[in-house]
Amino acid sequence: MLTKSELYVVATPIGNLNDISLRALDVLGKVDVIAAEHVQTSRHLLKSHAIGTKLITLHQHNEAIVAEKILALLAAEKTVALITDAGTPGISDPGAILVKRVREQGHEVIPIPGANAAVCAISAAGITDPHFLFYGFLPTKSGLRKRELEVLKSQNCTLIFYEAPHRILECVADMIAVFGEQRQLTIARELTKLFETIHTCSLAEALAWLQADTNQQKGEFVLLLSGAEIPEKSEISAQAQHTLKCLLSDLPLKQAVKLATEITGKNKNTLYKLALNMKEGKAQ
Ligand code: SAM
Repeated sequence: MLTKSELYVVATPIGNLNDISLRALDVLGKVDVIAAEHVQTSRHLLKSHAIGTKLITLHQHNEAIVAEKILALLAAEKTVALITDAGTPGISDPGAILVKRVREQGHEVIPIPGANAAVCAISAAGITDPHFLFYGFLPTKSGLRKRELEVLKSQNCTLIFYEAPHRILECVADMIAVFGEQRQLTIARELTKLFETIHTCSLAEALAWLQADTNQQKGEFVLLLSGAEIPEKSEISAQAQHTLKCLLSDLPLKQAVKLATEITGKNKNTLYKLALNMKEGKAQ
């Protein structure tokens, strides 16, 4: 039995229909209504698990309106599940607006965890950096995309992007334009599906690899880009490090870096990265 008036946020497979939890199937079979991004896509999934629950449509363009209808259902003591076409709702997918409204109205929101393309990719990429930043989809226009990548340039953790097949080449080309050719890129394509591919190489090699085989440009992509190099302590003299540390203890980061640059004559970006690491406790 499910508790009345609750919203269940249920993760569904990102390819392989078996990648759904027993709990998710139980909930989807028992709720009064399932709100799905595309009824057709979800019907296929539900049918394969012999689930016949009533479906309504909730997508990016009607989420606010349908959220109010779902609130009315919850107020009438019905139970509702939210699913999207693939993976976890709310992750580069609709869901956040509905969840926010439901929580505002004091109803319980129960997450039913499961597949997520970003986590799936990182779990099998063999990236030893324990930190990552999930970005999701970059802007579709090259100019805006490069501007956004510039903002991310100094991040020293793995950057995770989602990308569509028709933009994969220009996206990698823009990454080269902003980050140079040497950063490592893991291309995780068609995860959990027939043509699943996980390939790691430099950005320059990645572009050539994609161009060499148009099959590798098809399907769904997660891109995992290595972060900015943490400046080695040895790159910066002990004296400069000491100066920066002293300034950081009394001044805001930007001001400390500016003064440290003037005092030591060292590269401002290098000192900035070191200062960030000092603040985060990664460098002493
Ligand atoms: N909510 C989903 C999740 O939890 O991962 C993401 C939905 S988003 C609209 C779809 C994007 O996720 C695709 O364009 C692709 O970048 C990525 N994606 C989804 N399924 C994938 C798969 N099987 N292999 C690689 N990437 C996938």
